[in-house]
Amino acid sequence: MNNDSYNEMLNAIQDFHDKHDFKNTGGEDLPYRVALMSEELGEIASAITKGKSKENLAEEAADLLILLIGTAIAADFDLKQAFWEKMEKIMLRKSKMVNGRIRVSEFKD
Ligand SMILES: [Mg+2]
Repeated sequence: MNNDSYNEMLNAIQDFHDKHDFKNTGGEDLPYRVALMSEELGEIASAITKGKSKENLAEEAADLLILLIGTAIAADFDLKQAFWEKMEKIMLRKSKMVNGRIRVSEFKD
């Protein structure tokens, strides 16, 4: 197994979904998944604001990544393709300082 491969990650998460039959038990319901992703984002915030270990932060980030890749399965889109298309776009964007922090955006208004 190649741990660096997105497809291996996707297959592992598909196996996890299949193991618990997420497709037929509400585990792939998109609003539910958004709630779960929000919960994990909160755990990432908590890891940072409560000064928890880097290991804890990494575990919570992995939780969110697993949910995100699983959401690509549930909603049937190619996250890898979307990732590279978006990277191409954001690499062309300009940045500016906003309230002392850099922001990369389209800056439409
Ligand atoms: Mg978590």
